Amino acid sequence: MFIFKQIEDLQKYLKAHTAIGFVPTMGALHEGHLSLIKHSKAENGLTVCSIFVNPTQFNDPKDFEKYPITIESDIELLHDAGCDVLFLPEVAEMYPDGIGAIRQYEIGFLDTVFDGKHRPGHFNGVCVIVHKLLDAVKPHRLYLGEKDFQQCLVIKQLVTTEQIPTEVITCPTLRTELGLAMSSRNARLSEMQREEAALIYRLLNGIKVRQKSFTFEELQRDALQQLTDAGFNTEYLMLANAETLEEMKEFDHQKKMVLLIASFFHGVRLIDNLRVN
Ligand code: AMP
Repeated sequence: MFIFKQIEDLQKYLKAHTAIGFVPTMGALHEGHLSLIKHSKAENGLTVCSIFVNPTQFNDPKDFEKYPITIESDIELLHDAGCDVLFLPEVAEMYPDGIGAIRQYEIGFLDTVFDGKHRPGHFNGVCVIVHKLLDAVKPHRLYLGEKDFQQCLVIKQLVTTEQIPTEVITCPTLRTELGLAMSSRNARLSEMQREEAALIYRLLNGIKVRQKSFTFEELQRDALQQLTDAGFNTEYLMLANAETLEEMKEFDHQKKMVLLIASFFHGVRLIDNLRVN
């Protein structure tokens, strides 16, 4: 595996390649990330992964400070997964003019709901860095995890509006045995807390299974209570149109629906989602 820190060196190497799959990450890699590498390897001649903890997408400075960094084991995992290239830039390489004056994207509705609403500036930071990375790598295919459901929609919109010639492919969420969505932030929980955090998935699944017998409001109220009783501090647990992310007050089987949740557990913000039809 080649490791590049400068865009110029990366581009010199990539020039000779025609089918490039790209997996952008913030490191602290786990099996979820590696599943994206696997998808890319199956469909492309060359797979590039980037690791960059992007300062402009953290609306909470404490979250940025505490973000886990495990670069040595990341390199080993990528090597073992057969990743071809790792792009590992410093902040100055991605933001030569500093992080103060970044481009403002017209994200529109998607920036007003769920994580857009609760994490002001987050998706703009995501657009800034993903656009820069796509410019640097110029991949044919971009691999994203459905775990970050809203992020997938924001990036698809970015690729369309900026007319970027990259195909966006979304991949399923990898979970622990108990159902907790794998996430780098899970490293900030103890093993027991991670087991307890699997309640999120059980509740989402419970809503899905019981959707024919109860209203969404009843199921939502019950799940929120269970979360509170178990020590979670829930930001939102909502039902939305899976294509537009418009909130839905009740189940409507004519539409594709997704449950979305963000909940704090022992100070760690966990997100998850589940399609219900
Ligand atoms: P991150 O390092 O958290 O920015 O994630 C990098 C990419 O990996 C994003 O496209 C995520 O959606 C994806 N990802 C994170 N967790 C998972 C998971 N549990 N299963 C599948 N993909 C994931």
